Amino acid sequence: MSAIDRHAPIVKTLHWPDEAATQQFAKSLAALPDVGHAFIALHGDLGAGKTTFVRHLLHALGVTGRIKSPTYAVVEPYELSNLNIWHFDFYRFADPREWEDAGFRDIFASPGLKLAEWPEKAGTMLPCADMDITIVTTPDAARQVTLRANTLVGVALLLAAPAEGPQP
Ligand code: ADP
Ligand code: MG
Repeated sequence: MSAIDRHAPIVKTLHWPDEAATQQFAKSLAALPDVGHAFIALHGDLGAGKTTFVRHLLHALGVTGRIKSPTYAVVEPYELSNLNIWHFDFYRFADPREWEDAGFRDIFASPGLKLAEWPEKAGTMLPCADMDITIVTTPDAARQVTLRANTLVGVALLLAAPAEGPQP
């Protein structure tokens, strides 16, 4: 990414009262062509709903069958006829040397969708995400979600969020 593609972050907040709302957003995101070459970083505590969101997104993109949490493998690849997807979970990522050895540098240089849970654990190895999604569980077990676009691709992905306006 060149410096010219970077801009001040643009932030939107969403409310997901239940998992159906998570699924609805995932479907809207899957419908956007830019998702096919995006890097999306997912932030939030254990149980916030990062993997759940990825499952809904991958199903909406056409992945069939079981979508495993990549906590142990660090990455799970998916190959669709028109799209490569990599789902990372860096929770157990400890050794920066693993970055080169496991071929992660090559993955981030390849076309396709990259999703990463626990990007913080990969430290400075990870490139800048096009969009950061932060999921926070509220006391009533709903989710408060912040979308942060860091690049032009990220801005395009913000179209998946409903238009902001006065709350009813
Ligand atoms: P993480 O990957 O962030 O650790 P998971 O996706 O594995 O979290 O787990 C989230 C749990 O919370 C799942 O059991 C899911 O069914 C539940 N859940 C409840 N409400 C929601 C919501 N609005 N969005 C996502 N998950 C939700
Ligand atoms: Mg997870």
